[in-house]
Amino acid sequence: MEFATTESQTMIAQAVRDLCERELRPNLMDWDESQHFPKDLFRNHFGPAGMLGVLVPEEYGGAGLGYFEYISTIVEVAKICGSVGLSVAAHNSLCTGHILYFANDEQKRRWLPKLATGEWIGAWALTEPNTGSDAMRMKCTARKEGSEWVLNGTKCWITHGISSDAVVVIARTGELLDSKGMTAFVVERGTPGLKAGKKENKLGMRASETAEVIFEECRVPEANVLGNVGEGFQQAMKILDGGRISIAALSLGIAKGAYEASVKYAKEREQFGQPIANFQAIAFKLADMATRIEAAELLTLQAADLKNRGKKMTKESAMAKYYASEVAVWASNEAVQIHGGYGYTKDFPVEKFYRDSKLCTIGEGTSEIQKLVISRQVLKG
Ligand SMILES: Cc1cc2nc3c(=O)[nH]c(=O)nc-3n(C[C@H](O)[C@H](O)[C@H](O)COP(=O)(O)OP(=O)(O)OC[C@H]3O[C@@H](n4cnc5c(N)ncnc54)[C@H](O)[C@@H]3O)c2cc1C
Repeated sequence: MEFATTESQTMIAQAVRDLCERELRPNLMDWDESQHFPKDLFRNHFGPAGMLGVLVPEEYGGAGLGYFEYISTIVEVAKICGSVGLSVAAHNSLCTGHILYFANDEQKRRWLPKLATGEWIGAWALTEPNTGSDAMRMKCTARKEGSEWVLNGTKCWITHGISSDAVVVIARTGELLDSKGMTAFVVERGTPGLKAGKKENKLGMRASETAEVIFEECRVPEANVLGNVGEGFQQAMKILDGGRISIAALSLGIAKGAYEASVKYAKEREQFGQPIANFQAIAFKLADMATRIEAAELLTLQAADLKNRGKKMTKESAMAKYYASEVAVWASNEAVQIHGGYGYTKDFPVEKFYRDSKLCTIGEGTSEIQKLVISRQVLKG
């Protein structure tokens, strides 16, 4: 396996880095503190730069790129701010991705150009208060009345649950525990009966808005069903396969950000008359970080390569997500340790990497669920 960085990946990474240094870095701690989701950054900068429709073909207003370029984009944002990285990932691979993979051509023309250019922000709603890992037991329902579907129920933990202009929602249209009893719908903001609920006050990823989405007798036309009735659960599982590559890339960005800050600090900070990098205890931490980050990157690129070639990658994307997210948590913990007391303050970036990283082992399937997915694949063969 060889994953040489292409010229286009290098150029994209540089452009994203420059944009984030200019528009994101100066504000990120204020946004973190106040839990402000920077919608204007998305609309005015990320959208026009092609970062919100990376995988969307140009005919639908996107950048028309592949998974390697997508990973580069997420990594570069997350190296600076994990929470904005999470929002870019969720917008691209969940809401926009679901429409890209399962909508018909008329639906794609209706929604993708708005999402890919940042005119609209997307949300994707699967999780409910009592069904996180166990999505099959969802209670949110959709019943057919004439040519409309009527949605009722509450989704929680939804990224952009308040600020989104369109929500892809998976709701029950059949029997409980029937994997063919769920369907995906697009609900546009302003539809009567669609309401935003409680906004979560989180440990990390604070500039990425997370909120409840409530449906009360919310009527959507038949034309808003994605794919066929009854396919929603299978569609969601496929979207999560791809979404796991996103979270692996997000984890990788956070781990790289924490590592780069640590290398710099270890060379600058002096104790006992010399840079702390001279102490083997610190140098070995950096060696371990570099090694595990490269291993996480290779797993992520492997999953991206399979995805680009249209191959099945359920096991590989779960491995990438599981390993990279655990590395992100571990590496940002080591980064705080290398920074000593200063690492525990908001004057240095590593405390934020430490807080943001934890989401990566939870969102889009916890580490335990990734192990379940991997072990099922391993035992099948
Ligand atoms: C910041 C943030 C953003 C999110 N964004 C979205 C979004 O945009 N859209 C969306 O739909 N969801 C979103 N989620 C929800 C997320 O995907 C869920 O939190 C996640 O799937 C876990 O579900 P849960 O929180 O209900 O935990 P639970 O499922 O209750 O799990 C609790 C614990 O039990 C373990 N566990 C559960 N089942 C098993 C099992 N069978 N075997 C072993 N261990 C098990 C878990 O690993 C975990 O440790 C978001 C969550 C967060 C925190």
